[in-house]
Amino acid sequence: MSGLGKGIVSSSITKIMIMHGLKSLPMKFDGYLNYDCGTMNPFRHGEVFVLDDKGEVDMDFGNYERFINRDLDSSLSITGGKLFSEIISRERKGEFLGRDVQIIPQMTDFILNKVKAIARDKKLDIMVIEVGGTVGDIENSYFIEAMRQLALKEKVVFVNVAYVPELQVVGEQKTKPTQLAIRELMESGIQADFIVCRSDRALDKSAKEKIALFSNLDEKHIIDNPDLKSIYDVPVSLIDQGFDRMMLEELDIVGTKIDNAELSKWKDYAQSISAKHKKTVRISIVGKYITLKDSYASVKEALIHSAGAEAVNLDLNWIESERLEGVTENKIKEILGGSDGILVPGGFGSRGIEGMIKAIEFARENKIPYLGLCLGMQLMSIEFARNVSNIKGANSGEFDPSAKDKVIDLMGSQKDIKSKGGTMRLGAWKARIRNGTYAYQAYKSGIISERHRHRYEFNNRYAHKLERDGLVISARTLDGNIIEMVEWKDQFGIGTQAHPELKSRLEKPAPLFLAFIEASMGKRH
Ligand code: GLN
Repeated sequence: MSGLGKGIVSSSITKIMIMHGLKSLPMKFDGYLNYDCGTMNPFRHGEVFVLDDKGEVDMDFGNYERFINRDLDSSLSITGGKLFSEIISRERKGEFLGRDVQIIPQMTDFILNKVKAIARDKKLDIMVIEVGGTVGDIENSYFIEAMRQLALKEKVVFVNVAYVPELQVVGEQKTKPTQLAIRELMESGIQADFIVCRSDRALDKSAKEKIALFSNLDEKHIIDNPDLKSIYDVPVSLIDQGFDRMMLEELDIVGTKIDNAELSKWKDYAQSISAKHKKTVRISIVGKYITLKDSYASVKEALIHSAGAEAVNLDLNWIESERLEGVTENKIKEILGGSDGILVPGGFGSRGIEGMIKAIEFARENKIPYLGLCLGMQLMSIEFARNVSNIKGANSGEFDPSAKDKVIDLMGSQKDIKSKGGTMRLGAWKARIRNGTYAYQAYKSGIISERHRHRYEFNNRYAHKLERDGLVISARTLDGNIIEMVEWKDQFGIGTQAHPELKSRLEKPAPLFLAFIEASMGKRH
């Protein structure tokens, strides 16, 4: 079922295979009929992840990239929507002339051809395919059927990620949901080769025996996947159980060896995250999707990566921005007072905006380091315009289309766009950073590339006035037209139109997040 951590397991398997020197990439099937994740509400589906190539994909891609430290492309994401739209357009062109078009074989062949083409084009040794959803769902049934067929022709290992809940009152691990999952998969014609069991703690012997019995498997093939200190400990836990060795055996791949230098490097990074450090840094995240933490998955992980690299404990203070609206200064101080750093992440729509602006004002006035991501950069500009440049009605066209002073406005290129899917300014864009700025210090480079997802931008008409009043415009697009970053002059506060969190990896934390954590530790002023 969703939320179980199939993404972490897939990421870990891919990582381990790469450590074995095998060319490996993950691929994801999602059964929903949306073409991509771009139009999905973060409250319902978690964060929308954006790739360099503009693909708006499932948040699992964030985990894939964070684990394997490679940029992926959107051909690796196959949704029901993409499949149906392609297959129907081919039918209209007459490609199936004379035939009725069916799930089996046309749709399943279509999936198989895609998988094979990707494996061939990218010259992969192993492809790790994650089938989203729950076995038994109508949504993913044609993906599962395609995988059954794949196994008739290729070497395939099936891993069933299953849930083993523990009823606190009885103190017993219940294997029934896993038994049902195994049976359901068998009804689809698939015998799992491994069962990865998600549970609070490692499986009891009796639970393991039971699952082995129901799945026709040796007990060694029942893999523990208990709660660990961090998700980055999962690959190591799988290796410790011999999962990599057994899986390669099943795949008839012999003679590979794990690269111990790579493994110990990974372990060091993972360890720096779960270790208890002397110092703690308290970061307040002020947003509107706080009740579903998955909406900010990449922001959270980026902070974790940087805190680990700086050997500091991370204390995350999640604040629903509406709590800062219509309350006294004292109340705001009570909520934000203990923050070492304040962060406003991306978002859409007008709910909770004024609360975020209050948080930014609090950071600026109390010299608390601030990081604004996309919307957080736009609001940083609005706050400055209102409270420093005295443009009282400063706003964004997104929240008040009739505002007189739209310091943030719809991008010119967006004005005639009506349809919503895939039409924002998306993907990787380069920017040039001004020398001598906090941003330059963070990136240590003049030209950078980060991923984007927005329709609004800093209105150049206000650039002069705000700069004169002390706002630093620290980066622009290479053509100079779009303002990419702004910052405060004599205190650490940076807003970026991009989403640097999307490129932060355990082994390569995002430079802006590193700088932000350092500033929050009092290392940068
Ligand atoms: N809503 C803003 C825009 O579209 C910010 C988007 C974001 O934060 N990703 O420009």
